[in-house]
Formats: sequence, C-alpha cells, structure tokens
Amino acid sequence: MAMAKYFTDMRDVEKRRGANALGAGKRELARHRPDLALAPLREAVAACPASHAADLAERLYWLAVALLRLDRAELAVKSLASAQKLRPRGHARRAYTLRVNDYGMPRRSKPELDDFYAFYSIQACRYLSARAGNRFGSNGEKDAVTRIIAESWTGLRGSGRLAGLCSGKKLVLFKSWPVAFPSFVSGLSGHQGQGKGQKGQPGEIVAGNFKSGRAQGLDERCSCGSGLAYRCCCGRLASPREFMCE
Ligand SMILES: [Zn+2]
Repeated sequence: MAMAKYFTDMRDVEKRRGANALGAGKRELARHRPDLALAPLREAVAACPASHAADLAERLYWLAVALLRLDRAELAVKSLASAQKLRPRGHARRAYTLRVNDYGMPRRSKPELDDFYAFYSIQACRYLSARAGNRFGSNGEKDAVTRIIAESWTGLRGSGRLAGLCSGKKLVLFKSWPVAFPSFVSGLSGHQGQGKGQKGQPGEIVAGNFKSGRAQGLDERCSCGSGLAYRCCCGRLASPREFMCE
C-alpha cells in the first residue's frame, strides 16, 4: 500500500515537473526566445508518460513550434509526425500536413527537390546504417557520400524512368536504385560493406498491416489508424539530420 502511494506521489512529482517545464517553454516562446524554449520543452516531452496521449501530443507540438522558429524543419516535422499519430484531429495534424510532402519530409520549394531529398535520405540511410553510430566520421566523408548520391541521382533522372510516376512508385524505384559506395568512403572493408548491403538491405523496412495480415502498401492508409497514407505517416522518410544530430 505504502509502495503504491510512493509511486502515485512520484507520478505526481513527475507530472508537475513536466507541466512546469511546458509552462517555462511556452513563456520563452512568448518572449521570442525559441532557443531558450528548447530545453524546457524537451524536458516536458521526456517527463510525459506515453499513456497520456493528448498531453504528449500537446508537448510535442510546442517543441515543434520552437524548432520551426529556429529553422530546424527536419526535427520539427519529426515531432509533429509523432504528435499527429497521438491526436489525429489535433492542431499538430494540421501543422504536419501543411508542412510535409508526399514522403513525410519537409516540403521544399520545388517538387524536384522533394524527390531529390527523398532519394538522398534513402541512400544516406542505407550508407549510414553500415557505419558506427549511424554517423559520418567527418565532413569529408559526408561530402564524398553526398557527391556519389548526387551523381547517381543525375543518372536516375537522365534515365527518364521518373516521368509520370506517382510518389509511391518513385519511392519503390528510389529504394531499388543501386548506388555503389566505394569501400574507401565508408572505411569498411569491401566485403563487410557489401555483405550488409546485400543481406540486411538496411534502410529497407517491410511493414506489415496487422489488421489485414499482409504487407502495408505505401499509398494505403497507415495501419496505425492515423488516416494518412502510410508513406506520409509511419512509413515516412527520416531526413538524415533527424538521426545524425540528435
Ligand atoms: Zn501511421
């Protein structure tokens, strides 16, 4: 009994701490200091139990507001993507659908750029999944990989195979388009690097729709129940920055 009370008290303490942090973050936003809002808002998100869906969605939304004001669209969209799943009818959903493209990534100024960033993300994720800590070891390595991906993109566009394809079909093509990363770039031996690429197909996620018991189609409604297409929801592409920086 005493133990149960202890846990209830601890939950209350945690709840208060989270609510205070949320208040502090919103105050900093009101003072036009999004940089100072970031830490308390992150604390507010961390302190919120996953079972409190509405509270957590609210906190993720405010964290996204701060990130957007700091021009960190990739991380903001990541926050909004989580928030809209928790509350499909809340304002996070509106903010999310307003900002994302067909790949669930921040919308760019031109559709060609949306395509390029989707392709870049798929290929960079594939490369980084074979690297320690999923990170580039240096800026030189990042530049070299970016150059290789950009060259491959030029080849893909030049092939004319993208013409007339919808986003879902483009995604399938992007995922199957082979980009050869030389082993000297990754620092792995050629054998290891290739082995991982062939066997595990890193970056390739095969999702199952548990309701229908078959693979989840990219254009089908997401099985999480959000009502969005899978490619814009749980199957969205993460920008490399999402998993490299934080
Ligand atoms: Zn989903």
